[in-house]
Amino acid sequence: MDDYTKLKKSLRNMQILIIIVIGLVVFGFALDFLAVQKTVSVIEENAQTKPLKTSYVVQNLKGDAMETWYAWQPRDKIEIQIVGENNYPKEKIDAVKRAILSTETIEIDNKLVYKGDEGTSTYWIGWKGAVDYIREKRGIENSLDISFTDKDDADIIITLTNSKSGEGLSGVTNSMVNDEESTILRSFVTIYEADKLSNEHMEIIIRHEFGHVTGLAHSTAPEDLMYPVIQTPAPYISECDIDALLHLYTGGKTSQVICES
Ligand SMILES: [Zn+2]
Repeated sequence: MDDYTKLKKSLRNMQILIIIVIGLVVFGFALDFLAVQKTVSVIEENAQTKPLKTSYVVQNLKGDAMETWYAWQPRDKIEIQIVGENNYPKEKIDAVKRAILSTETIEIDNKLVYKGDEGTSTYWIGWKGAVDYIREKRGIENSLDISFTDKDDADIIITLTNSKSGEGLSGVTNSMVNDEESTILRSFVTIYEADKLSNEHMEIIIRHEFGHVTGLAHSTAPEDLMYPVIQTPAPYISECDIDALLHLYTGGKTSQVICES
């Protein structure tokens, strides 16, 4: 092979290499673009849907309605029963479980949630992820063991029903508390018209109600998951919800969710 042929060959190899690199870069951008598009379309879908109305009640053992803060006693294990599980498709039940068990986070553009034009904020998809994050911050090493059970004496009972709420609510959480010790003993979540809810809405409403289960009250900010009427384009557990929960479980003595925009 003379020098000219060698040069031609190495030039050819370089061309191929450059084409491969360009191809990979374009492919990477395309993947990123698709991922962003997907997030945006989920958010737009949420923004267009009718607001989900919710309510929550805290009762002491005598049945009086209470209006102050309550928290679960320190524990490493919590059991949940889903009543009516067998009446719904598996995907709908998976949506319920995802809102509770997921440890994934999602980044959402601040401008979509009216927090200015810059940057993104982190949101948690499931309460297990949020609670484990808080436990870690508090120096608790082991993660919370959340399990689903058929037992009637579960700590949390989620009832899915096709019946309509008298007040047009999608979900209600009712917590039984010991008002002398400010502790939550058990929580009962009811989801109405569960057959009519899309899987996405089921997930969102469970995520909101489970916020009440943890002891959180409603948020002051319309763009927050814990606002009484769920209308946020980012229906996930926000840093504001996390801060409120951390405050409640570190002696804050308040269940309020105050979000600054
Ligand atoms: Zn609520």
